[in-house]
Amino acid sequence: MSFYIFIFVFGALIGSFLNVCIYRMPRNQSIIWPSSRCPSCNNPINYYDNIPIFSYYLLLRGRCRSCREKISGIYPLVEALNAFFYLLVFWRFGLSWSSAVYCILCSALIVITFIDLDFQIIPDRITLPGIPLGLIAGSFLLPDPFLRATALGYKASLIGAVSGFSLFYLVAFLSIKILKKEGMGGGDIKLMAMLGAFLGWKAVILTTFLGSLSGSIIGIGLMAFRGRERGSLIPFGPFLALGALLSLFFGQEILIWYLY
Ligand SMILES: [Zn+2]
Repeated sequence: MSFYIFIFVFGALIGSFLNVCIYRMPRNQSIIWPSSRCPSCNNPINYYDNIPIFSYYLLLRGRCRSCREKISGIYPLVEALNAFFYLLVFWRFGLSWSSAVYCILCSALIVITFIDLDFQIIPDRITLPGIPLGLIAGSFLLPDPFLRATALGYKASLIGAVSGFSLFYLVAFLSIKILKKEGMGGGDIKLMAMLGAFLGWKAVILTTFLGSLSGSIIGIGLMAFRGRERGSLIPFGPFLALGALLSLFFGQEILIWYLY
């Protein structure tokens, strides 16, 4: 029990750093320096006001101590989400190096999701180092998410990266040629290569399927309820992240359900 409390607190602390990444990466600012500041008044945040989740609700009640400006509820949400996913990783994969790698992957997907929702970009600063990291971890360390008792291995990891890249590159190429519009950003292509490297080629298929399905449902929902213009851009990254996380945590269950 105390182990899971430790993992939760650790996940929330890393989540606090992810907020810094989500705010600064799309603005091309350093994520190391300076220390956390209020986005409204730019005053540095005291360490006791920077305790994940806790400070937001109990000490600050959702407002900055200096300027009393409202702080976005996204901050505690990101901290709680990251803590939740770290718990899920260790519950599923135990105390192992694989779990450490998957925690990094989950954190990367959280940052990508919130940046893509806000700015419609997926930062190269995450996906470009992510591809080789995924290939190395996939070759030597990680299990196959669809057959958890077996290793993923370098073939499945490499085929995953190449097929993820090629499939999405082809979709981007065809939508420009046939539909005469950009249907898929370069960020999505690199994200898919990264996911293929970490999770293997089977996950490329399932992630593409689940991502497109959930993206279509939400897209149709938005058009119906908010009158969003047909063909207006909905970021695809969050849906790919969702598909990848479902493949990671429930790939084996989904495969068994599908086969029998
Ligand atoms: Zn402030």
